[in-house]
Amino acid sequence: MITNLSDDPKFEIISENLKVIRNDITETAISGGRNPEDVRLMAVTKTVDVKYINHAIENCGVDLIGENKVQEFLSKKDSLSLKGVEKHLIGHLQTNKVKKILPEVDMIQSVDSLRLAAAISAEAVKLGVESKVLLEVNIGGEDSKTGFDKTAFMESLDEISKLPALKVKGLMTIPPICENTLELEKYFSMMYDYYNEIKEKDFENFDFEILSMGMSGDYKEAIKHGSNLVRVGSAIFGARVYK
Ligand SMILES: *Cc1c(COP(=O)(O)O)cnc(C)c1O
Repeated sequence: MITNLSDDPKFEIISENLKVIRNDITETAISGGRNPEDVRLMAVTKTVDVKYINHAIENCGVDLIGENKVQEFLSKKDSLSLKGVEKHLIGHLQTNKVKKILPEVDMIQSVDSLRLAAAISAEAVKLGVESKVLLEVNIGGEDSKTGFDKTAFMESLDEISKLPALKVKGLMTIPPICENTLELEKYFSMMYDYYNEIKEKDFENFDFEILSMGMSGDYKEAIKHGSNLVRVGSAIFGARVYK
């Protein structure tokens, strides 16, 4: 598909935003003694018009996108140029929608309960595939957020590791809104510790290599504390307009 770059200034803004973010990622990784290539950038495309998503993919090298809602993704996907692009679901998933979304995405980052993990595994068994997932941790213990509670989570790992068709690739989190950077970094650092603790334990069906944390407002802090996948939406595409 040829994208028309003509009059709409937003195409150029998106290109520029991506340059700035990639530069930030590189500098932050290097200053932390890490290889910038180890940090992946996901473009979060919820509410974004397909023409802008296609621009990011075709002209700016975006190769990983994240969507929150099953229905929204399914209605957009046929208009997207997704060749060579990895698609992840990052929003809360109801068990009754597992069947619809599983064949459509490469990873579900938002596995927030044992029940959902079991439903995904059961559906993957039917399809004869192995489903890659991340476990979402509610690191701030907030009532308003989905994700495994920190303590319940550790206890669920054994059961999750017994589910036959899951490949658990790591962890995902959205930290609470913090008053200051110090507090925010404390949450990221806790996540990094969990990640390493679980990685060392060698659970069956676990193949830990992804720590997904950091969004538009805090991806630098997240990278500083070991994130290797940042999920950035509004800093690329501008403020979201919910219809
Ligand atoms: C919307 C969303 C993002 C991106 O948020 P921005 O602040 O716009 O970068 C990242 N992760 C999840 C799970 C989201 O729902």
